[in-house]
Amino acid sequence: MKMTELEELRKKIEEITVQMLSLLKTRTEIAQEIGKIKKEQGMSVSNESREDDLRELIKNKCREIGFEENTALKFLNFLLNESVKVQSAESKTHLAIFLKAKELEQQGKKIIHMEVGEPDFYPPIGVKESLSQIYEKGFGKYGPAKGIPMFREKLSKFVNKKFNAKTNVENILVTPGARFGVFLAITTLLVPGDEIIVIEPAWPAYRQCAINAGIKVRSIKTTLEDKWEPNIDEILACVNDNTKMIVLNYPNNPTGKILPRSLQDQIIDISKKHDLYILSDEIYSNYSNGEWKSVLSYNYDKTIVTQSFSKSHSMTGYRIGYAVSSQEIIERMVKLEALCLTNVSEPIQYTAMSTLEDDVSNNMKIINERLTKLQEICEEMGLEFLVPDGAMYVFARTKNPINASEFSEELLNHGVAIAPGIGFGDYNEFFRISACLDIKSLTEGMDILKTRL
Ligand code: PMP
Repeated sequence: MKMTELEELRKKIEEITVQMLSLLKTRTEIAQEIGKIKKEQGMSVSNESREDDLRELIKNKCREIGFEENTALKFLNFLLNESVKVQSAESKTHLAIFLKAKELEQQGKKIIHMEVGEPDFYPPIGVKESLSQIYEKGFGKYGPAKGIPMFREKLSKFVNKKFNAKTNVENILVTPGARFGVFLAITTLLVPGDEIIVIEPAWPAYRQCAINAGIKVRSIKTTLEDKWEPNIDEILACVNDNTKMIVLNYPNNPTGKILPRSLQDQIIDISKKHDLYILSDEIYSNYSNGEWKSVLSYNYDKTIVTQSFSKSHSMTGYRIGYAVSSQEIIERMVKLEALCLTNVSEPIQYTAMSTLEDDVSNNMKIINERLTKLQEICEEMGLEFLVPDGAMYVFARTKNPINASEFSEELLNHGVAIAPGIGFGDYNEFFRISACLDIKSLTEGMDILKTRL
């Protein structure tokens, strides 16, 4: 008797699952249609207020039918992410422009690269020597997944001194660049249906990592008019039981913004109060002109700071960086790193260790000179932008708004690559120019840009 009841219930589950699948298919097709219309109209993929409406609808329905709200909202997050995925397929980021530029170069075209954030100067000279020592010293075996212990020890001391932190070796994880640190933090600490707050404009990988892991992005849009400062009430309004992490990136890519101290303090307070992880990507910390304070100095246990040698030491292709967090979080992150990589290349760790404390202040000086020149040119051209407090970019728009994605594509045909704003959020009228080339090339690139506006 019991068995037939069980069989019947199983049959019902089967039917409902299949029905849900058909509904999901129809829903995905509709989302695609909406995506096409948004694209035609130059609208951005995500629409926070529309999503809020849906959330309210779901909450009301839960009350009506007596269903657990959190589960329903997690399910909604899954559906919203599916829509974002199908609608984002063709969205242009600076990486897409970079790859297209490389293709054109292969065909013999000269391109001035103002789209990538890759310093053009050499790494510190000591790197050359350490690379030649690697063979003799026997660095080149498998090693601990967290990184060479001596390197982690040095990183911990360095971080304590430089960022006013209180870490020890157990708080450090060596990663192949900050990008992987970001991926590890988002992928291991959050689970599908969780929510992550991203303040936009933002480096695209935060959103992409989240979507890849089934995590819902709640974007807080900031504006040039508000000096790229997030509104605290807006942050508070989007925090709910599913909110698990907030991403900070100051000095910011693409705007160069550093948050005023009191605003940063408030965001840290909110995060503590709501028990959120803070993922603070501080890769541009060496390039700060204004007063900047590492999130590490707040000594909040749920902070994960990602750092890298890419920008500070101009070692982008070496793929080396590190994450700093509580021992518990590091233990969670290292499991995935070990699974993916075994360990970060030991020769490269050794090289980074040997150059860690080298004086790289000249890099900042060079980037600053270029940024100053770039600002001058942008001002002459009547572009609108906020003078960057740091990083290596100017994020600008024209007085009469243009579609910067189309403009970037067109400009590529004239030998100049810039990063369209749409890659950083709903900023289709903005573009990012990198100060990663010598002043002569930058000027040449801007001259061409000027003629196309
Ligand atoms: N974070 C930000 C904000 C970046 O702009 C970049 C690179 N452009 C990265 C992380 C990635 O750095 P890495 O080379 O260390 O992976």
